[in-house]
Amino acid sequence: MQKLATTELANLLEKDALRFAEPMSLHTSFQIGGPADIYTLPSSQAELMQILKFCYTHAIPWMIVGRGSNLLVSDKGIRGMVIATDLYNKISIDENYVSAFCGASLEDLCNFCMVNGVAGLEFASGIPGSVGGAVFMNAGAYGGEIKDVLYCSKALNPTLEGLNAANPILHIKYDEHQFGYRHSSFQDNGFIHLSSVFKLSYDDKDHIAQRMQDLHEERWCKQPMELPSGGSIFKRPPGHFTGKLIDDCGMRGYQLGGARISDKHCGFIVNAGGATAADVMALIKHAQDEVKRRYDVDLQTEIRKVGDW
Ligand SMILES: Cc1cc2nc3c(=O)[nH]c(=O)nc-3n(C[C@H](O)[C@H](O)[C@H](O)COP(=O)(O)OP(=O)(O)OC[C@H]3O[C@@H](n4cnc5c(N)ncnc54)[C@H](O)[C@@H]3O)c2cc1C
Repeated sequence: MQKLATTELANLLEKDALRFAEPMSLHTSFQIGGPADIYTLPSSQAELMQILKFCYTHAIPWMIVGRGSNLLVSDKGIRGMVIATDLYNKISIDENYVSAFCGASLEDLCNFCMVNGVAGLEFASGIPGSVGGAVFMNAGAYGGEIKDVLYCSKALNPTLEGLNAANPILHIKYDEHQFGYRHSSFQDNGFIHLSSVFKLSYDDKDHIAQRMQDLHEERWCKQPMELPSGGSIFKRPPGHFTGKLIDDCGMRGYQLGGARISDKHCGFIVNAGGATAADVMALIKHAQDEVKRRYDVDLQTEIRKVGDW
């Protein structure tokens, strides 16, 4: 597989954009995860499509990743191809409509909006993901969600039929995103998110900067930002707060291997040093069992478990 990829993709991609046995711990906010067989960083739609076609031609499994801030990658790593969107990251503005490619970071997008005096995305400024990951997850914080500001998206149907279509780019209207709590249609249809347009409102850039700063401080005050993690490990169960349920089970600071329930916010599992994916999974299971036993509440994971388990 490595020889094939070297021969066929080396001409297409920049030298550093094609890597083998790449440790995923370098590309996840948890700093956990074994090697991806092949790791690619396309910087254009054409490169992305070529990589996908290469995978189909050679029956190589593939997966797309953004900034890895909602992923728990197996210690054994990921078989096949990881396609990381980091380099596909252009952001532009037309009046109060801002367009961003999937690989742009939310932080860059929010700063761009602030500099251009358009408001509405401040809630997202501390979420450490990409635009693609945020649309996929309908990311949200502090009363705002992607669904509140998104106007429309472009996507790719990554089947052979989709890739070979006369016009492979799909235009996704707002309603077609089927947004829900940490849900979008991208989770069901397997499309690749390419870009989105956000409809924002004009505001004074100092006011926008101040709101971003306030939320930043609140986040650093309440969440364990100083340690590697995958953000909230569980979805919020209706009528409950996950952190409180786990805290009430006496699990604040509880540690298995290198994975620990955060002392600062019990809804987070942190990598306290040398944690493995197996440690995190064991701790997730323990928290789920305890909360079920004591409160009869089922905790569903928000983090996505990927790779070769
Ligand atoms: C410290 C911390 C704080 C966080 N706070 C919040 C918060 O306040 N609110 C919140 O909602 N989340 C939060 N998160 C979780 C995470 O940042 C979000 O879920 C984010 O949207 C994930 O984006 P990503 O680019 O990292 O996606 P990844 O983790 O790389 O991927 C997540 C999923 O999206 C898919 N995906 C990524 N890009 C694409 C694409 N272009 N097309 C199709 N599928 C794609 C991947 O295949 C994967 O299934 C936090 C995480 C951390 C570590």
